Amino acid sequence: MRLPAGARFNIVGAGLAGALLALLLARRGLAIALYERRADPRQARPERGRSINLALAARGMRALERAGVLESVRPLLIPMRGRMVHDRAGAVALQPYGQREHEVIYSVGRADLNRVLIEAAVQHGNVSVHFNQQCLGADLATEHLSLRDAVAGREYQLPLAPTIATDGAGSAIRASLAAAQLLRVREEWLDHDYKELTIAAPAGALERHALHIWPRGGFMLIALPNTDGSFTATLFLARAGPRSFAALTTAAAVQEFFAREFADALPLLPDLAAQFAAHPQGQLGTVYTLPWHVRGEVLLLGDAAHAIVPFHGQGMNAAFEDCAELDALLDASADRQELFARFEESRRPNTTAIAQMALENYLEMRDAVLDAGFVRRKALAMALERRFPERFIPRYSMVMFHPEIPYAEAQRRGILQEQLLHELDRAGGGDAAGDSPLAARLIRERLAPIGAGP
Ligand SMILES: Cc1cc2nc3c(=O)[nH]c(=O)nc-3n(C[C@H](O)[C@H](O)[C@H](O)COP(=O)(O)OP(=O)(O)OC[C@H]3O[C@@H](n4cnc5c(N)ncnc54)[C@H](O)[C@@H]3O)c2cc1C
Repeated sequence: MRLPAGARFNIVGAGLAGALLALLLARRGLAIALYERRADPRQARPERGRSINLALAARGMRALERAGVLESVRPLLIPMRGRMVHDRAGAVALQPYGQREHEVIYSVGRADLNRVLIEAAVQHGNVSVHFNQQCLGADLATEHLSLRDAVAGREYQLPLAPTIATDGAGSAIRASLAAAQLLRVREEWLDHDYKELTIAAPAGALERHALHIWPRGGFMLIALPNTDGSFTATLFLARAGPRSFAALTTAAAVQEFFAREFADALPLLPDLAAQFAAHPQGQLGTVYTLPWHVRGEVLLLGDAAHAIVPFHGQGMNAAFEDCAELDALLDASADRQELFARFEESRRPNTTAIAQMALENYLEMRDAVLDAGFVRRKALAMALERRFPERFIPRYSMVMFHPEIPYAEAQRRGILQEQLLHELDRAGGGDAAGDSPLAARLIRERLAPIGAGP
């Protein structure tokens, strides 16, 4: 698209997607005005209550590389080679994520990553960032954005310009467009919430290069490493019921629950009761929005358009992929309306697929990883990948390590592969089943070479 140099875009929300998008668009000579509700993270302490660290994988890294910022992010990254599964008796076992040296995911601190992205964006003369500015909504009738300056305590309006809304899962812009019946929104909340707890450094015997999981069937604790030697643990648990947050209302109940369910984690949390009482309990859900854009004037992107549950560690990765896709489509679109429409057409099937796979992964993480059949099929999948790398890649690996395979294609192939794994597992032979003539026949019949289409 031939946008005149200096053409202006508003971006609302300087979170992970907003900051990266500002950088990508500024590199093309566009003038970006970025409005953010929070204070400048380069000066203020990070907001409490958001996930403190996140898993970054190949899709996100590819987008960071496209923006020329990956090398600035690298010092923040801690490789995690697999899931370290803790059973009730305290025994641990590593389930590697992939089988090649580079098949790892990375733990990264949200606040540090956001700061690096904002620093990179503002280094471009084309980006102006306005902190402490809360967007109240967009009005398409008058073509204005309404904002509130939290420092001056006044409300004001800006021309729509156009605007890209990257104001996250609770997007005020999305809400205002839905209220004006310009789009429809469905929010599906899980009946499970989360709470974060800090395991201070030194974190005892916890292996640093792994994502730790205490799967308990119906709920789980996980922990990701931080660069200062601490870990951030997250408890995912039902909101109500006998084993739930609602049942953990006293220090004694919390202590007793952890002693029973996560005995080997308890010594790492000497201040458990105080943290549990002080830290917020977060909600988890999926946001479905239709459409994502209005008249070439407003586009929703990242969580604002399609927030997902965190169990595949892909929300940020998908939001970064959105940014890269919009940037790529700028070359191929005649005008803004076409650009936004193409973006939605290209991204919607993929974000719908990852939303579904993320929900499925909760069941896998909290229940299946301890199941003997699951572990057997996982080993068989690895064996098949070694033997037929051009046709069979485990679904988890397609999502995490293969950004060239769109999410929707990973989901489609994943369904075929899962059926095949069950059939081969039933036929017996363990990992060796991967070498059987039956495996070779079924794979050739059902799975076209990757990249060759259905
Ligand atoms: C517990 C948990 C764990 C997660 N783990 C992972 C993981 O391991 N890997 C992964 O890839 N993803 C993970 N995610 C998902 C990830 O956090 C999101 O997908 C990602 O942050 C989306 O980026 P975004 O820029 O769209 O939204 P956000 O990062 O939420 O940014 C939105 C920005 O907009 C600002 N804002 C909000 N409202 C307004 C307003 N009205 N006016 C102005 N500014 C506003 C906010 O302050 C913020 O800066 C996790 C999420 C949760 C809740």
